[in-house]
This record gives sequence, C-alpha cells and structure tokens, in this order.
Amino acid sequence: MRKESFEFLERYLNNASPVGFEISGQKLWLDYVEPYVDTCFSDTYGTVVGVINPEAEYKVAIEAHADEISWYVSHITSEGMLNVVRNGYTDHQIAPAKRVNIHTKNGVVKGVFAWPSIQIRNKKSDQGLALSDLSIDCGCDSMKEVEKLGIHVGTVITYEDSFMVMNGKYYTGRGMDNRAGGFIIAEVARMLHENKKKPKFGVYIVNSVQEETGLSGAKMIAENIRPNVAIVTDVIHDTQHPNYTKATDGDIKCGKGPVVSFAPAVHRILLQMLIDTAKKNKIPYQLKAASQETYTDTEAFAYSNLGVASALISLPLKYMHTTVEIAHKDDIQNTIKLFYEFLLQLKSGTDFKYLK
Ligand SMILES: [Zn+2]
Repeated sequence: MRKESFEFLERYLNNASPVGFEISGQKLWLDYVEPYVDTCFSDTYGTVVGVINPEAEYKVAIEAHADEISWYVSHITSEGMLNVVRNGYTDHQIAPAKRVNIHTKNGVVKGVFAWPSIQIRNKKSDQGLALSDLSIDCGCDSMKEVEKLGIHVGTVITYEDSFMVMNGKYYTGRGMDNRAGGFIIAEVARMLHENKKKPKFGVYIVNSVQEETGLSGAKMIAENIRPNVAIVTDVIHDTQHPNYTKATDGDIKCGKGPVVSFAPAVHRILLQMLIDTAKKNKIPYQLKAASQETYTDTEAFAYSNLGVASALISLPLKYMHTTVEIAHKDDIQNTIKLFYEFLLQLKSGTDFKYLK
C-alpha cells in the first residue's frame, strides 16, 4: 500500500466517529477525497459525498458508512460513576476493564470500565454480564465532580483501542466496520483521478452517517442523489471461528477476497457484472447467500426512489463489533480493485430492468 494511503487509513481509524457524532471523521475523509473529485457536498446529518461529473444525468453511487458503534452516558450516580447505554450495537461483554474516551465539549476525558477483582467477585459474574452491571470510573467521587468535567447524560463514549498491523498482513482496529469501507471508496476516487480514467457517468462517492442504528444516513442520501446504480461496501463475518456454522453462515475467510452477496435487494444483473469483472481481472472473490436481507445500506439504496439497482461488495472481518476487528490487507486492495474495474467497464445509461 502507498505510504500516504496507509497513513490516511491509520489516521481515519484512530479518530473517533460515534454514531451521530461523525463530523471529525467526515472532515478527515473529505480532506483526503477532495483533490480527486470535481465537487463535494454534505447533508443535514453529516453524510458527505465526493462527486465526479456532477452534471451527468446517469449516476452511480459507491458507498460506505462512517459511523462507529459507541456508548452514551445514561445515568450519573451520586458516587460519581457513569452508567451507559449502547449507541449502536456495542458488545457489552468486552467492556470490563477497558479504557475509554469520554467526548465532552471541552475535549476528551479519560475513564475505565469498572470491574471487580477476580479474587473477590461473585462467581455469577463470570457467567455473562448484563448491560446494567456496567459502569465507568472517570476518577470522580461525586456527581458534582463528574459534571465539572463536562460529562452529562447523553455524552458519548468510545474505546481507546487503536490501529495495529499483525504479521505484516492483518489490520486490526476499532471500527474497521466500516471505516475500512470509507477508505476503500476514497482509494477508488484516487485511482480514477490519478490514472486519468473519467467515466462518462456521474460517480458519487458517499460516506454515510448512522448506519449502525438503522441505515439512516443512506436512506436520506439515496433520496438526495437519486442514483441509477448503487454499490455498497460493508464488512461481513469471517466464519472460521468455531462459533460460526458454515452450513448456514457460509465459508468466508479473510484473505480470500471480497465477498459478493445474493439477496433480494442485490440486483442480479449488477451482481453478475461484478462477478464477471472479478473473473476478467483475476480478482479473487467469495460468494455469500444472505437469507432475506444483507442488513447493510444496500437495502436502503435498493428500496429508495422506487427502486435502484444495487449490489454489495463486502470485506471479510474477524471479531465484528469488538475493538479488535481484523481485516486482511489483500482483501482491502482487492475490494478497491473490484470497484475500480467495475466502474471502468460500466456503460453510461445501462438499463437494469429485469423485464424490458
Ligand atoms: Zn456494524
């Protein structure tokens, strides 16, 4: 990977972008993408879009989501401890003894998830943890002290864990879901620009907010752009851990290439085009059958504007919704390549109607 690209990925992943509070990440992303597109815009809730050929009638959106799962302060005790609720589907089982960043108006306040010592704790605690058992210690002895630090009900909290490379080939970090996707579509924009490949259609490079709480950013921006085609990228479970059932979850492995899914929202002609593009360019890929929904922004685009031909290219990921989400660097590169080659072969005006 190019040095500048790697540095952007690291910077982007280490920044906090909690659901509903994505703006600092969106600024980083826009700074990177802006030189490679003709124009940029954002919407009311912070979804940002880089556009190539803004005047073109035929529009193709490539999309990822910018938000990171996190916590909200739900209650402050008189002893100065913070209780929390989820902001997105955060895993409460990994919380004990983790360091956190509490995002106040005055900047980051440090804290840790409290956890009783193994020497004294009730054995019941080892059998699973309820969300209501969790509390955060931010070094305060009273509610007053907490409030003095700028913390209130509704203050958002992220984990501290940062980006790391393992064995030269695996990237791990917080919120690879789906900042890896934001990185991928940004790199597609860069490649089109640097290789002077300007498609005849409009290319809308979309980094949506609020996917983790109901695909909300994508729903809004799909109506705003009104694309003819949308290709979404998100993460998908690597199914090699014994907790998965390959019979139903499929056999997905990091390092074996991007995953293309079959699902009602995934347009079959578009999907075949992606598979043909992968084959022609010798890009490895894996197949997935999504029972019912993909549970990604694909549904948001597909079912907008009376129907938009949509597809999904997924990045295999281990340990989803933890702070050590892992992706293979080759899968990231191959996903970029698949997007790029797809855009080069797509003809402006392609009609995706099943019945003509
Ligand atoms: Zn997610």
